[in-house]
Amino acid sequence: MKYVYLVGACGSIGTQALDIIRDNKDEFKVIGMSVGSNLELAYKLIEEFKPEIVCYRKESHIKELSYNPITTYGDNGLLEIAKYHKYDNELFINALVGIAGLLPTVEAIRAKKNIALANKETLVVAGDIINNLIKEYNVSLYPIDSEHSAILQCLTGEKIKEVKRLIITASGGSFRDRTREELSNVTVKEALAHPNWSMGPKITIDSATMMNKGFEVIEAHYLFNIPYDRIATILHRESIVHSMVEFNDSSIKAQIGASDMHTPIAYALKYPHHDKLNYDNLNLIGLKLNFEELSYDRYPCLKYAYDAANKGGCYLAVLNAANEAAVKLFLNNKIKFLEIENIINDEINNDEYSKIEYNLDNILSLSYKIINKILTRYGVD
Ligand code: NAD
Ligand code: MG
Repeated sequence: MKYVYLVGACGSIGTQALDIIRDNKDEFKVIGMSVGSNLELAYKLIEEFKPEIVCYRKESHIKELSYNPITTYGDNGLLEIAKYHKYDNELFINALVGIAGLLPTVEAIRAKKNIALANKETLVVAGDIINNLIKEYNVSLYPIDSEHSAILQCLTGEKIKEVKRLIITASGGSFRDRTREELSNVTVKEALAHPNWSMGPKITIDSATMMNKGFEVIEAHYLFNIPYDRIATILHRESIVHSMVEFNDSSIKAQIGASDMHTPIAYALKYPHHDKLNYDNLNLIGLKLNFEELSYDRYPCLKYAYDAANKGGCYLAVLNAANEAAVKLFLNNKIKFLEIENIINDEINNDEYSKIEYNLDNILSLSYKIINKILTRYGVD
C-alpha cells in the first residue's frame, strides 16, 4: 500500500491523479489532501476519499460534512499536509501550480515522503536545493510532466554518459499557426484553447508563450543531470512523441502514446510499473508525425529560459516570478499577450539580482517580491 498526500486535488492534474487512485484502491490510500476554491468538488472528493487530514484554501471554506477529517487551511495548512507523517511508504503528489508548490515539496522531502512532481516550478526555481534534499533524505522524485516521464522511460537501462542529447517535444500551444504580427490582439479565451491538451489556465498560457518548454528544459536539466547545451527542443504538433533521447551512436529512443496525462501520472505513481489503465489506446494506423524547428524569434520566452538558466543563481526564480505575475495579469485582462514577454525580459536583464545569494529563503522572498511588484504596478493583488 502507498499512503498518498495530494496537494492541488481539485486541479487538472489533481483530479486525474485521483482517477488513477480511484481505479487502484488496493494500491493507494489518500491520507492528506489540499482542495481549492471549487468547493462543490472539494467536499465531494473529501467524502469520497476520506483523507485523515484536509487543507482548505481558506478558513471560511471549512464545512461540517458526513465525513469529518482533521482540517487546516492556507499556506501553513499545505505545510501541515507535507509534514504529516504516519506511515512508512508515503508518496506526496504535488499538483499545485506556481511558486506555492516549492515549500510543500521541501517539507514533504524532509518528512521522508517520496515525491510525484507535477509542480515544475519547484524544480525551475530551486533545482539544486531539491536535488540536495533528495539525496540528504534518501527519497525518490518521479516526474509527472509527460516529456520527463518519456525521457525517464527512454533512459531506463541506459547510461547517462552515453546520452548525446535530450530532445523535448513541444505542441506549439494555442497560437502555433499564427505569426507574431497576429499575436498582438489575441484574447484570453483564444489563448486558453489548447489544440492537444486540456490543462489548467497557467500552463495553457505558458504553452502558448513557449515558457512551458523553457521550464521543461530546466526541469530536465535537474532531473537527469544533463547540461543545457545538450537539451534540445523541437516542434511536434501531434503531441504523440512525448520526448526523445539521442545516444552517442546516434540511436534515438522515443516514448510515444496518446495525449492523455493519465499515463504519465500513473507511471509516476506506480514507477517502475506499466499496469493496465482504463484510458484510450493510441491508434497507430494512419498516424503521421511531423517535426519542425522551434525558433527563438517566434518564441522569445524559450530563449529567456535558456538565458536565465545560463545566468544561474537566483535568475531562475526571477524568470519564474516574472512569468507567474505576467501570466496572471494576462489572464485578468490587464496586459496584452505579447507584454508577457516584455515583463519577463525586463526582469531577467536586471543585474541587481546577481548579488542575491542562492538559498531557499532568498528564492522565496525574491519570488514573492517580484510577483507583488509587478502585480501592484497594474493594481492587481
Ligand atoms: P490547475 O490550475 O488545474 O490546478 C492547480 C491547483 O492548485 C488548483 O486546484 C488550485 O486550487 C491549487 N492551488 C494553486 N495555488 C494554490 C495555493 N497557493 N494554495 C493552495 N492551492 C493552490 O493546474 P494544473 O494544470 O493541474 O497544473 C498543476 C501543475 O502541474 C503545474 O505546475 C503545471 O505546470 C503542471 N503540469 C500540468 C499538466 C496538465 O496537463 N495540467 C501537465 C504537466 C505539468
Ligand atoms: Mg509537459
